[in-house]
Amino acid sequence: MSAIKLVLVFLLWGTISRADDCNLSQAEIEEIQSYQDVVNQIIEATTNGQFKGETFEELAVFVDKFGARLSGTQALEDSIDYLLERMNSTFDIENVHGEDVQVPHWERISEWAEMVEPISAKIPLLALGGSVSTPEDGIEAEVVVVSSAEDIHNNYHDAVDGKIVVINYDYHSYGVSVSHRYDAPVAAANHGAVAVLIRSVTDFSMDSPHTGQTTYEDGVTKIPAAAITVEHANMLQRRQERGENVTIRINIQTQTLADATSRNTVGEIVGSEKPNKVVIVSGHLDSWDVGVGALDDGGGAFISWYALAVLKSLGLRARRTVRSVLWTAEENGMAGVKAYDELHKDDLGDFIFVMESDDGTFTPLGLRFIANTKGTCILTEILKLLEPINATQAVRSTSGVGSDITIWKDVLPTGSLYNQNDNYFWYHHTKADTMEALDPDALDRATALWASVAYIVADLNEDFPRALTDSGFYASANVFYVVFLSLFGVWFY
Ligand SMILES: [Zn+2]
Repeated sequence: MSAIKLVLVFLLWGTISRADDCNLSQAEIEEIQSYQDVVNQIIEATTNGQFKGETFEELAVFVDKFGARLSGTQALEDSIDYLLERMNSTFDIENVHGEDVQVPHWERISEWAEMVEPISAKIPLLALGGSVSTPEDGIEAEVVVVSSAEDIHNNYHDAVDGKIVVINYDYHSYGVSVSHRYDAPVAAANHGAVAVLIRSVTDFSMDSPHTGQTTYEDGVTKIPAAAITVEHANMLQRRQERGENVTIRINIQTQTLADATSRNTVGEIVGSEKPNKVVIVSGHLDSWDVGVGALDDGGGAFISWYALAVLKSLGLRARRTVRSVLWTAEENGMAGVKAYDELHKDDLGDFIFVMESDDGTFTPLGLRFIANTKGTCILTEILKLLEPINATQAVRSTSGVGSDITIWKDVLPTGSLYNQNDNYFWYHHTKADTMEALDPDALDRATALWASVAYIVADLNEDFPRALTDSGFYASANVFYVVFLSLFGVWFY
């Protein structure tokens, strides 16, 4: 490349950067910067003052009291009653109430598996949520290991009839690999399999099975479905590759009961000037029936209502309402958020920013969100105020963030706690989802970030831009960028 072209590339780069730059007015920037004292106050209270260690303590008391909270169970409802009382009486959060939701009620009764040929050995497993039972005395059948539902169809079409299918895939990311958990029972049953065992959906394993929801299809035989560990899936595959005939015996007993009534748990700090406009912070209160749901999603739920406790105690009432919603029944089909969406369809237009933390509450790094360019600029500027806890990263996303709130990903701005969650799936949906997976200091900082962002977005002079597409300066900057890039490309080549 000639020197002159190199210089032009630099000039072009400068132009692109400027076109992508934020166009907040000096007044808007100064307005956001004026919240630094408030943010410092929140950080001080949560990481050093009266709330230090309290998000963790509150959650520890809660999970010790109620344990796992699977949708449909009394434990979940008791835990909701407790929290309504706690939010209302102890922390004086406003308009605390539950909103009824009909939720699925499936229960695990018992399960075991063992290899009977070529050697006798126990196989740890967890039935998948929604799985049907085996006959009372179990199923004994030969094993066929495949890599996916398509693999059955393409390469094992007639070979799985009457067999137990094991799905052992290459793990990519949770988002990609979790599809095996949903697809497997229908695909295996369509080809005559009598049961299906999937490799647990995790990037790291210490021989623990990970449960999670699965699905059936009307008109296709429902076969029992369970997760086995990564180690056991690999062991079964090695045996198949060596030409060994492996026989397994499994016994899974579950029951599906009538839908039950549960509740989304709601509390707020009512806005002083525009009470109808709402910023939501959320997480889900239900959990799987293994472990105690401390990580998934006790942490997310507790930073969400505790953010309100902190704001309330510091006397921080924003112009708009800050609402905490603790969803019910996320794990087996998101009945909670679907009911909320239906019940509030007429006020959705007033929801200006909805946040959910359901990817772990490890060391917070910032926020991952879907917003237009101006919204991105505002959040970027707000997150700069979180410099004292090193959580300033503004990560704009195009795919959905959070879990429940992905229902609104194309409708309104949504955000999720961006945190150092590399180990999240080690514990996810296992009996190791306990308080030991959490860190009190990280939770304090997550609460501080949650409270700060929610408060500032709810308090700014102008409504946070609700549109997800750009208008005005940002739209023209993008057009300029595309036109300039095309012209330059044509000239360059
Ligand atoms: Zn979750």
